[in-house]
Amino acid sequence: MSAKFPQYLTKEQEDELRQIANAIVAPGKGILAADESTGSMGKRLGPIGVENTEENRRRYREVLFTSDAVVAENISGVIMFHETFYQKTKEGKLFVKLLQERGIIPGIKVDKGVVPLAGTDDECTTQGLDGLSERCAQYKKDGAQFAKWRCVLKIGAYNPTYQAMLENANVLARYAMICQQNGLVPIVEPEVLCDGTHDLYTAQKVTEQVLAFQYKALADHHIFLEGTLLKPNMVTPGQSCPNKVSAEEIAKATCTALSRAVPPAVPGITFLSGGQSEEDASINLNAINAYSGRKPWALTFSYGRALQASVLKAWQGKDENVKAAQQELVKRAKANGQAALGQYKGDIASAAAGQSLFVEKHAY
Ligand code: 13P
Repeated sequence: MSAKFPQYLTKEQEDELRQIANAIVAPGKGILAADESTGSMGKRLGPIGVENTEENRRRYREVLFTSDAVVAENISGVIMFHETFYQKTKEGKLFVKLLQERGIIPGIKVDKGVVPLAGTDDECTTQGLDGLSERCAQYKKDGAQFAKWRCVLKIGAYNPTYQAMLENANVLARYAMICQQNGLVPIVEPEVLCDGTHDLYTAQKVTEQVLAFQYKALADHHIFLEGTLLKPNMVTPGQSCPNKVSAEEIAKATCTALSRAVPPAVPGITFLSGGQSEEDASINLNAINAYSGRKPWALTFSYGRALQASVLKAWQGKDENVKAAQQELVKRAKANGQAALGQYKGDIASAAAGQSLFVEKHAY
């Protein structure tokens, strides 16, 4: 007779996953999310007048990954899109190899994008489970140590629905198990979008509910929590809410929601920036770490837009701007590394620091 609670992972598999997860959220370190799909990259390159070609995407990622090696003091991991994962520097070195040599852990986005969830009012789920195990096995062989899958939930008068919360939590749990069985730490990302006029309290309650569904699903699927990371939204008022709130209020609402739903077994929480300006994303992360309430996990960043806006602005697609662009990445990485320790003083100026990075119904 088989055991009622079979062991899904060996002790060695668990140890490896735990070690990777802990390394990613080591004190003062976080993730550079550079996993924009081809379409999303077009939206980043368009405004700086750079054509969205494979070579230009490669050139841009080379700017990011060859910046001063000091960046590894604050960047522990990089999430890449499939195309980037197999691209090389102009000298012919695989980006994965370059990052490994710098002590940065390669990660891979494995979802296949957000799709409509039929039967709902414009809600969605995320596809990509077919063939996922084989893809994860290959990525692991080729150097990936962690993966990302993003689901999105929207706040509206009747949203998110039970159906959307259940389905998104479940698909993330299935992804998480497939990753763990293949030696990849799953970053579980149920993002509550900031689109809307809702207030801070509404965002907090919805985030609490979404996370409660998430951890129920992860328990149902016997996920080894010590070998996972959570990538949530910070709790902020809707983008169009007339009432603005302080970083301290955001920190309190965020930590309260997390403390009600995320087990202490989870080693770390790596926030997305979700359209906040670079400076807001740093200030809010700092306030979260400075908050005196209960928070038994590492609280750090996994920013896309909030680590790249100034880099893009400084680069403009020109070789002569590469150094200046790379300095912008170093600055934002440092600001966020300090914020992850609650030590950021708001004194690191960047090219696009205050600029809103909000994109309606943001797809990645
Ligand atoms: P932003 O920080 O731009 O929200 O993106 C992070 C990410 O990886 C979203 O999936």
